Amino acid sequence: MQKPFGIEQSWLVCIGCGYRTDLLDERKFRCPKCGGLYDIDHNFGLLKKSLYDYIRVFEANVNLSARRSENPAIRSGVWRFKDWVMPFMPDDLIVTLNEGIVPIIRAGKHLQDWVGDVELYIIMEGMTPTGSFKDFGGTVMMSVANAAGIKAVGCASTGDTSAMAAAYAAAAGIQCAVILPKDKVTAVQLAQPLVYGAKIITLPGDFDDCMQVMQELVANYGVYPANSLNPARIEGHQATVFQIAQYFGWQLPEWIAVPVGNGSNCSSVGKAMRLMERLGMERFGLKKISRILGCQSEAANPLGKSWNLAQKDDEVALETWKAKYEPVKVGETAATAARIGNPVSRDKVMREIVHSRGAMEIATEHDLSEAVSICGKDGHFVCPQTGIALAGVRNAVKKRLIEKEEKVVVVSTATGLKFTETAAAHLKHNIISANDCKTETVAKILQG
Ligand SMILES: [Zn+2]
Repeated sequence: MQKPFGIEQSWLVCIGCGYRTDLLDERKFRCPKCGGLYDIDHNFGLLKKSLYDYIRVFEANVNLSARRSENPAIRSGVWRFKDWVMPFMPDDLIVTLNEGIVPIIRAGKHLQDWVGDVELYIIMEGMTPTGSFKDFGGTVMMSVANAAGIKAVGCASTGDTSAMAAAYAAAAGIQCAVILPKDKVTAVQLAQPLVYGAKIITLPGDFDDCMQVMQELVANYGVYPANSLNPARIEGHQATVFQIAQYFGWQLPEWIAVPVGNGSNCSSVGKAMRLMERLGMERFGLKKISRILGCQSEAANPLGKSWNLAQKDDEVALETWKAKYEPVKVGETAATAARIGNPVSRDKVMREIVHSRGAMEIATEHDLSEAVSICGKDGHFVCPQTGIALAGVRNAVKKRLIEKEEKVVVVSTATGLKFTETAAAHLKHNIISANDCKTETVAKILQG
């Protein structure tokens, strides 16, 4: 197969030493010079488009989205922004499940009261084909794999990545293997890759053990990574920011809050905002970029902990944080998808937090569960990881890090339907068991 685009169009660049290599030829996704992670960059100059041209296309794509069309730029909330996401990908190689034109909602009354005096929104990224934000990255990653002629992909996962990888691999006709920690993912998260036809291997350890094996399979056994080690995923996740910006008329809120597991969401939010700065969005009226609030649970807080340690001096410099960073042994938490003690993308996460003048917050187990219940009272069933971000925002509002009436968008990373066991566990006492099947018995209970 002839390569659809080369290093002149899109390339990988090491975030450690700047080494460049071809995106479609790469299989290991680690810099051979320094072992660093890669970013992807594109030759936007070749597109010969002004900012006005980009925005006009993005706006037209939204307006057309109510009509019948097979064009991924119209059907997909990620490929709608193709020029900023993966501009040189031929349309016929795109692997899409029509992911992600997701709702951005104003927080309901209960949640608003719980969080405090800020203008709170949630982008509902659980409303995607596999029920999590991973689909934003998955469609771009699998399209790149498809364009590179890859026959099989693999990933380690806390549940959502394996569902995404398996679904998009199925759509592409590519084989998929997933490595999961035994008994540490929910029944739904296990059912998803099974139904999508992936090969599933469980290990008697936690996610960090699975990731270690996965990294060695990539380095030494030619497995193509579907993990966030693969920076093509980050390109797709940027659509979160572009959708938010479009929603606010090409402005950004004061804060974007995300739960941090392996770090793909945080990395992509920052990268997208840097792209908007680089393309000169201030000329288009963009006043400033959002500050990123990265949130972790107490049970898995390697970045929150090191951030707090580094914060002794007022402004946290990247080097101070690096000196304080240590992996943590994870504890038990309802937020299993973010149960990661040594995040692969940690350097990217902290780069973006520092660049955006953001911060890290740590949520207690009690607060993250309470956040999920509170959302339920407004009619929204969000995942416990979203609970981490909501509780983090609440902490930041309490300590006046987020100021009164600032706009905050929380990225809701998955549907609560994937986490029914833990979400409902502390509410089971609300269930009333009748002793027989008679209508009068039920009526008596209702009146009681
Ligand atoms: Zn390097």
